[in-house]
Amino acid sequence: MVRIDLKLEDTQTGPNLETVLAAQKSAFNAHPNPPWNERKAKLQKLGKAINDHAEEFQKAISEDFGNRAYEETTIAELLVIRGGIHHAIKHTKHWMRTRRAPTALQYKPASSHIVPQPLGVIGIISPWNYPLQLAIMPLIGALGAGNRAMIKPSEYTPRLSDLLKRVLGTVFSEDEVYVATGGVKVASAFSALPFDHLLFTGSTSVGKIVAAAAAKNLTPCTLELGGKSPTIIDESANMSLAIPRIVNGKTLNAGQTCVAPDYVLMPSAKIDSFSKALIEKAEEFYPTFAGNDDYTSIIADSHYARLQTLLEDAENKGARIQVAGDDDKQRLAKERRVPLTVVTNTTPEMKIMQEEIFGPLLPIVASETLDDAMNYVQSKDRPLALYWFGEDKKKRDRVLNETISGGVSINETAWHVVQEDIPFGGVGPSGMGAYHGEHGFQAFSHMKGVFIQSRFSQGKALFPPYTAKTHKMLNLMKKIL
Ligand code: NAD
Repeated sequence: MVRIDLKLEDTQTGPNLETVLAAQKSAFNAHPNPPWNERKAKLQKLGKAINDHAEEFQKAISEDFGNRAYEETTIAELLVIRGGIHHAIKHTKHWMRTRRAPTALQYKPASSHIVPQPLGVIGIISPWNYPLQLAIMPLIGALGAGNRAMIKPSEYTPRLSDLLKRVLGTVFSEDEVYVATGGVKVASAFSALPFDHLLFTGSTSVGKIVAAAAAKNLTPCTLELGGKSPTIIDESANMSLAIPRIVNGKTLNAGQTCVAPDYVLMPSAKIDSFSKALIEKAEEFYPTFAGNDDYTSIIADSHYARLQTLLEDAENKGARIQVAGDDDKQRLAKERRVPLTVVTNTTPEMKIMQEEIFGPLLPIVASETLDDAMNYVQSKDRPLALYWFGEDKKKRDRVLNETISGGVSINETAWHVVQEDIPFGGVGPSGMGAYHGEHGFQAFSHMKGVFIQSRFSQGKALFPPYTAKTHKMLNLMKKIL
C-alpha cells in the first residue's frame, strides 16, 4: 500500500478552542461531581463507539501509516482500550469512595478523610504512533474521574484524527468531549489553554515546550515522553525465550513504540550468535518485509529518511549492519518499510547511540558485567522502560533496586505498559506523573484532604493567653510525640 503523504491543514475547523473550553468549564461548574451511574454510562458509550467503528479505525490507521497490520491495531490499540474501559467500569466506583485516614493522637477524636474530586476539564495531546490508544486511554481516566475533556491528536494521522472527531462527536456533546484536529499551530494554541490538567504524550523536546506553555497557567501536567529504553541480557538468560520477545518488541509497529527496546547491553562473546538469531527470528516472523500486510510502514518520509541517516552515520563510524530479509531496496523505500536491522561494533559517537531510535534498528553495546551494564544505564537519561533478561534473581533484584526507569519488564519487552494495576509513566527526561487504572483516576482527580473536628476538641488547651497550663500541655505533647 502506498501512502499519500497527507497532513492536516494547520487550522482547526469548528468552534474556537477558547469557546469550547469555556462551554466545558461552565457545564462542569453546573454539575461538578457526576455520580457513578453517569460516569459509567459515559465509559460504556465510549467503549461501544470504539467497538462499533473498530474496522474503520483499523483502516484509517493503516492508511495513515501506509500500512499498519490490522492485528497490531487490534493488539496494541483496540484490546488495550477494551481492557482499560472494562477495568475502569469494574473499579471506578471503589476509587471514588471517600477514604478515612488516620488522625494524629493529639487531635483525636477528630477525624481525617481523603475525598477524590473531579478537576474539571482535562486537555489531552496525543502522538501518531498509537494514535487511538494514546488518545483514548487518558480519556478513560478523565471520564472515570468525572471530568470533561478536549483532545488534540497528531497531525501525522489525519484520517484517524478526523474519524475520532466524528465518532466521539456522535456520542458526546462538545461540552463533554471535544476533538480538536489540526497541525502544530493548533497544538501550540491548545497547550496554552488554561485546562485543569494537561496530559501530553510525545517527544521529550516537545514535552518541554508544552510544559512551559502549561506553566504560564499553572496547569498541572502529566508528561508521557520518550527516550532510549535499554535491554540488559544477563549470562543466565534463556536465549530461546529472550530472542522472540526482543524481536517482537522491536518490530511491533516497526519499532515505532515509545517503550520498544532501543538498544541491547550484553557480553561481547555472545553478540555474534545473538545478532544472527535475532535476524533469523525476524525472518521467521516476516518472510518478506515489502508487501507484507503483517509488517507496518514507517509513518512518513521524514522519519524514513531519519532512520536511514542513523544507519549511514553508524556505518561511516565503523558499525556492522545486518539487515533481515533480502527484499528489494527500492520497493522497501517506496513502501517505507525498514526490516529489523542489527547494528554491532557500536561506539558512543554514533548518533544511533545518542538519539531515541523509534524504528526497527537495534544497536548492541558490549558490556561484560552487570556493573558495566548498570553504569552505562545510570550514565544516561533516565529511560521510559528497562528490560532485563535472566534467571539469576539476585542480579535481577540489583537491577530493580539500583536503576531508575519509568517501568520495567523482566524477561519480556513492552508489556508492563498494558497492566492496568501498575502506573504507566516516565521519570525525569522520559516523563512526569503516571496514569492507567487507579493511577489515571488519581492523576485526573483532586485528592482533597478533609479534617472534621469533634465537639470535644483538645485544641482549646492551646488557645492563648499562654500560661503555665499551656506549657504543661506542651511538655506532655513533646513526651508523647
Ligand atoms: P511529538 O512530540 O512530535 O508530537 C506529539 C503531539 O504534540 C502531537 O499531537 C503534536 O501535534 C503536538 N505538538 C507538536 N508540536 C507542538 C507544540 N509546539 N506545542 C504543543 N504541541 C505540539 O511526538 P510524536 O512524533 O507524535 O511521537 C513520538 C514521540 O512520542 C517519541 O519520542 C515517543 O517515545 C513518544 N511517545 C511516548 C509515549 C509514552 O506514553 N510515554 C507514547 C507514545 C509516544
